[in-house]
Amino acid sequence: MLRHKVTVLLLCALVFAPFARAASAQTRVPPISLKERTLANGLKVYSAQERSSPTVAIQVWYKVGSKDDPPSRSGFAHLFEHLMFKSARNLRDEQMDRLTEDVGGWNNASTGNDVTNYYEVVPSNYLETLLWAEADRMSGLNVNETNFHSERDVVKEEFNTSVLAPPYGRLFYDIDKDSYAVHPYHRPTIGSKEDLDAATLEDVRAFHSTFYRPDNAILIVVGDFDQAQLDGWIDKYFGRIAKPTTPIPRVTVQEPPRTAEKRYDETGPNVPLPAVAITYLTPPASSPDADVLRVAESILSEGESSRLYQSLVYNQQVAQEAFGQADLRQGPGIFVFGAILASDKKPADAERALLAELKKMQDAPVTQAELDKAVNQLVANQLRERETNSGKAFAIGNAAAILGDASRVNTDIEHLQAVTAADIQRVMKKYFTDTNRVVITYTSEAPKPASTGTAETKPSSTTADKVAESAAPCDEKKTGGLGCFKLSYEPPAKPADAKKTPEADVILDVVVDEQGNVERAKAKSGPKALRKTAEEAVMKWKFSPTLVSGRPVKVEGTVTVKFVLDDEKAAAK
Ligand SMILES: [Zn+2]
Repeated sequence: MLRHKVTVLLLCALVFAPFARAASAQTRVPPISLKERTLANGLKVYSAQERSSPTVAIQVWYKVGSKDDPPSRSGFAHLFEHLMFKSARNLRDEQMDRLTEDVGGWNNASTGNDVTNYYEVVPSNYLETLLWAEADRMSGLNVNETNFHSERDVVKEEFNTSVLAPPYGRLFYDIDKDSYAVHPYHRPTIGSKEDLDAATLEDVRAFHSTFYRPDNAILIVVGDFDQAQLDGWIDKYFGRIAKPTTPIPRVTVQEPPRTAEKRYDETGPNVPLPAVAITYLTPPASSPDADVLRVAESILSEGESSRLYQSLVYNQQVAQEAFGQADLRQGPGIFVFGAILASDKKPADAERALLAELKKMQDAPVTQAELDKAVNQLVANQLRERETNSGKAFAIGNAAAILGDASRVNTDIEHLQAVTAADIQRVMKKYFTDTNRVVITYTSEAPKPASTGTAETKPSSTTADKVAESAAPCDEKKTGGLGCFKLSYEPPAKPADAKKTPEADVILDVVVDEQGNVERAKAKSGPKALRKTAEEAVMKWKFSPTLVSGRPVKVEGTVTVKFVLDDEKAAAK
């Protein structure tokens, strides 16, 4: 009997092993049925009816990102993301929140290297209101001294909290800066405080009229609507916006191919453990090789069974954390490999180990099991994204704005499924070469001589620089049961004789995942006007993973973000 059973099992295995891949390769995804229009003023409109919930997602993507920031005016695209929530011809300050949150919906916006997008989800009977509001801020934004100064201060504070305060904030800032020789991608999206300070109201108005216009925008509506009614509302509210006659400037700078390895030694204050990052230039996101790079990224760094985790963290114990990321863009992208070192290890150890893993992928094809798992993960992520109206709208926006062809929203999953082990080996050999490499080491800068009480003149030293972790019980249910430890992050004490400047603290509840990424950040106290900025900033922080018996665990706790204010009035907001 037993023997018989074993035979049957083996047969099953033989039958199912090849079948598993065949099944995944044939996963058919129902296409998003897209309707495309272009208004006379150049506005591109994509709509897709989806009646599974009585809601509608509205998104406006402007084809302007940090790469389009004017020379010496880095950070402008991001500054505009903030200004767009101030008043317009008919909208009051922050009214977008009232029109969405007060009816059970939500809204947000983001700025990337290539685009700035604004998005909302509301019950479908509020669709007309939101179309009216988006049209109002596209054409009638109030760019005045008051709005400009208040939002510039908020953005500068975001620089403090997202770049200067987190222990690895500067590393991620340096990666863009060091990876591009001439392309404006070398200016990180957050910009520079000097450029923001040097900006005038005239510069800001010029930026708005140059890029915020219907022929530089894509409107996407997905959800529960009547097509004729939607088209009528779009004509009514967007159709009346004039098309400017001036041309839209486009980045034409070509990043030259790298011809030799370049090395940079970067530093930050109080870096808990050194880090190393290696970047390679990649083709644009629209290139056929981009799909292959995404599968390679997943095999190298998705989860604890990934090659980098298994090799650097688990087996060699040279790093606390290792990652690979295909940062694909409209223009040349970068593939970033990195590691935060284990105690007593040197950047050279991690660099050697990272390069050895790349060489393995070049020397031999990945296994079928690795390939299947990676493709399945990527496809599953896309399917999960498309379960919601807002996820579908993002997929359409990405295809239209970054890939330059909205119809790719319906072919990209097939392309991912077509990637083979031979494709991966070819791409690994093509891009991950010795001459296409930038190596960045990131270590703690030498301690400064004792301060004599002028610490607050440097924002970096007035914001929190110390991470204190201590084991304490918390709610296991919230953290998925793997482990649960309190995490606290406290600003360093100021010298007793420090000059007094107005300050404000925002205290946030945070959950940090096993990789050290912030999963959730919710402000619970502090000035209302600063809470959103603090949440946005903390979401980008990177902690070193908390280890319990050698295993990384999810932690929850509180962090305090300290804002240095220009005047007392701001603190009272
Ligand atoms: Zn921001």
